[in-house]
Amino acid sequence: MSREGFEEVVGLHDRNSGLRAFIAIHDTSVGPAFGGIRRWGYLSERAALMDVLRLSRAMTRKCVLAGVPGGGGKAVILDEPGLDLEKAYRYIGRCVEGMGGRFYTGPDVGTDDDALDRLSAETRFVTRTGDDGPGELGEATAAGAFAGIRAGLEHLDGEVDWSARRIVVQGLGGVGQRLARRLVEVGASVVATDIDVEYGRATAKAVGAEFVEPSTEVDLPCDVFAPCALGGILHDVTIERLQARLIAGAANNVLAKIHHADKLAERGVLLLPDFVTNAGALIRGALWHLEGRQVSIEEIETRIAASTTEVLSLSAAEGRPPARVARDLADARIAARRKR
Ligand code: NAD
Repeated sequence: MSREGFEEVVGLHDRNSGLRAFIAIHDTSVGPAFGGIRRWGYLSERAALMDVLRLSRAMTRKCVLAGVPGGGGKAVILDEPGLDLEKAYRYIGRCVEGMGGRFYTGPDVGTDDDALDRLSAETRFVTRTGDDGPGELGEATAAGAFAGIRAGLEHLDGEVDWSARRIVVQGLGGVGQRLARRLVEVGASVVATDIDVEYGRATAKAVGAEFVEPSTEVDLPCDVFAPCALGGILHDVTIERLQARLIAGAANNVLAKIHHADKLAERGVLLLPDFVTNAGALIRGALWHLEGRQVSIEEIETRIAASTTEVLSLSAAEGRPPARVARDLADARIAARRKR
């Protein structure tokens, strides 16, 4: 914990619901920690613990580069048969409430509107969508990813001619389908996939994208590959297959290992750091709590275009991949604000 700068890591076990969970607070040096609850079928407590640490630290990096005066936190629930979801989310809600506002939580993989209802019944420190909340979160993330893609293409080509661009979107969930629709609207040719083929085919049709079978999307020649499904998808095998010039999207932790950023750079592929381009929901949720306002889509696009451009300029100046530059820049800013 001290080496990586964590402030608090809590293990939870509730006999009543069968809940096993971890909450990690990485940084509250300038404001509360923000991060959703991930419910996933982890193979072990160790795997869940490693994930909550990795995710909460990434949230701090996301905050500093997005200019959000808060830090990173996260909660993970070990999903397993017999887990009583209603009681489990209520229990975790009481724990979050007990933290007194040091940690604000919200949606993530596995935490849907029902779960958010249960959390809200127990704590004030949760981000909900809806008219009386910060606004749609998936829409904010998709807008940020769109702004990142536009800034990346401008960096590569000097301008963006959408009608000449082919973009592959991997994953057509809440974020991916909104991003695909937006790209179609500006005139790009969009190819999309989803591991749920029936759902993916219908969604692609609805947004005006061409559907391809999952896993074939990696081999398609394109300008942009936009990961909007799960993390860990850029590794030795996929990097050899990818034929994109730019990779930018919404999925968290797309690099299997940081050295894969170097491998992509060697192959001439520009990868934008995910924690820069997918900060839209964080900006909306955090500023709703901190400043009591609904952040507009335009503001999200402006902020993320600015942080992407900053990282790309530094990367060009230093001759290092953007993923490494962004990580070092974020860590230097975190260290500086902790000294203040
Ligand atoms: P989601 O669960 O709504 O959608 C994910 C979609 O990806 C699903 O339709 C799923 O079937 C599909 N999928 C899973 N594995 C796949 C694969 N191997 N190939 C193709 N499709 C696959 O999630 P979401 O809210 O759209 O988020 C997408 C990603 O963006 C996640 O990694 C999430 O952590 C990240 N993210 C989301 C937000 C947000 O505001 N929702 C914010 C930041 C980051």
